[in-house]
Amino acid sequence: MSQLIFELSKPGRRGVIIPASTTPHVSFDASYTKDDAIQAPEVAEIDLVRHYIGLSKKAMGVDNGFYPLGSCTMKYNPRINEDVANLAGFTQLHPLQPEHTVQGALAAMDHLQDALCEITGMDGFTLQPAAGAHGEFTGMLLIKAYHEANQDYKRTKVIVPDAAHGTNPASAAMVGYDVITLPSNALGHVDMDALKAMLDDTVAALMLTNPNTLGLFDPNIKAIADLVHDHGGLLYYDGANLNAIMGLSRPGDMGFDVVHLNLHKTFSTPHGGGGPGSGPVGVNERLIPFLPNGTIIKEAGRLTIKNAPHTIGRIRSFYGNFLVNMRALTYILINGAEGLKEVSLNAILNANYMMEKLKDTYHVAYEQTCMHEFVVSLEKEKANHGITAKDIAKSLLDFNIHPPTMYFPQIVNEALMIEPNETESKETLDHAIDVLIHLYSLIKDDPQALLDAPHTTPVKRVDDVRAARNPILKYKESESSDSFFVIE
Ligand SMILES: *Cc1c(COP(=O)(O)O)cnc(C)c1O
Repeated sequence: MSQLIFELSKPGRRGVIIPASTTPHVSFDASYTKDDAIQAPEVAEIDLVRHYIGLSKKAMGVDNGFYPLGSCTMKYNPRINEDVANLAGFTQLHPLQPEHTVQGALAAMDHLQDALCEITGMDGFTLQPAAGAHGEFTGMLLIKAYHEANQDYKRTKVIVPDAAHGTNPASAAMVGYDVITLPSNALGHVDMDALKAMLDDTVAALMLTNPNTLGLFDPNIKAIADLVHDHGGLLYYDGANLNAIMGLSRPGDMGFDVVHLNLHKTFSTPHGGGGPGSGPVGVNERLIPFLPNGTIIKEAGRLTIKNAPHTIGRIRSFYGNFLVNMRALTYILINGAEGLKEVSLNAILNANYMMEKLKDTYHVAYEQTCMHEFVVSLEKEKANHGITAKDIAKSLLDFNIHPPTMYFPQIVNEALMIEPNETESKETLDHAIDVLIHLYSLIKDDPQALLDAPHTTPVKRVDDVRAARNPILKYKESESSDSFFVIE
């Protein structure tokens, strides 16, 4: 393991020489000052650069290798997004500036709201939510506010399919709803009979991802929407993975009342490691009066932030993750309507290409034409040879390929969920296909190599159970180190 920056520290070393101050010295009252010196590492610039470049080389990211992490849409972030987000006109604004001094920024946000309405077929959008799960939470609050405004207090349940992303039931539960799980049928679609049996006047909403986490588009979507509406419920669309349908079909046209998008997935803004996301929420006409505070509204030719009449209140500070939103706007404008459609067509093409090339080797769960991703199962390989989805996933690291999503969706045992993304070339896909087929051959030829993988990474197999049960969250200085700093 490499040393920490604090362990590299030597008293007196400097990375920068700060020029002598030309402003007069001012003394503070001692009550405002700290007693201890700041404990910052002291290193030369070259050591600092090597330290962080070294760390970055040990991490796997979309910029240094194929990253087919299903449902996460780890697509390339075009660098022009960064150029735009770095414009001084954006970065030098203060969120508390008077509205008339930030009309340009408001116009850019309004433009993004309009574009998202057009892409999804919704009537209004809020850019407030900071991520997908936050968008779901917002959407559930909107649905609750709507039913309450109609004095329809019986509706205490939200239906969520068993193939849903884990955040869906969690968000519904956080708003106080009872979650009922809807089973999938043999084709991986919504089981219509089960849905009919569940629907009554106590159901507030159905939360649906379409295509679902199996990468399958539900052909009954119109019938599903009609059924839910006939029973007085609303439809929530989890649009985190809109790159499967952009420019091809729209949640609004399918009958959805509320939708959230993950700009940090579909619209190419970088994510991972808990970094800033953006999960805007779109609604149809009847939910506009409930939108959160901080949503941009046009009034007499001017842009303003006004509270909707029956607003659910503020769900995030200021204007949402503004610079993330500017990256997404850049991506939308650069692609244009035709380009966004092409993005989806290529995402679908790449996923189906990989699935077709792998399906004679790996068992594809719910084998049929997929959308942006597909799921394979290693259930038989585990039973017959003791090789699991995790062993294949770990082995990919030795080939500089990030593992697919593992053990999800939970309705597929030993699942690997592969989402190649539209940004990858045929050569990259062919290489990944070759690697996956090679690894499969090792199940018979050299299973130990798979069980011991990864072989080339700085950290080998970790004990997942111990890491979860007994996490070590503090760094302790090693005995031999002459470092002065201990993270407590
Ligand atoms: C990623 C994802 C979410 C959650 O989004 P976060 O930004 O991680 O909160 C929800 N649903 C689906 C289908 C997703 O892929």
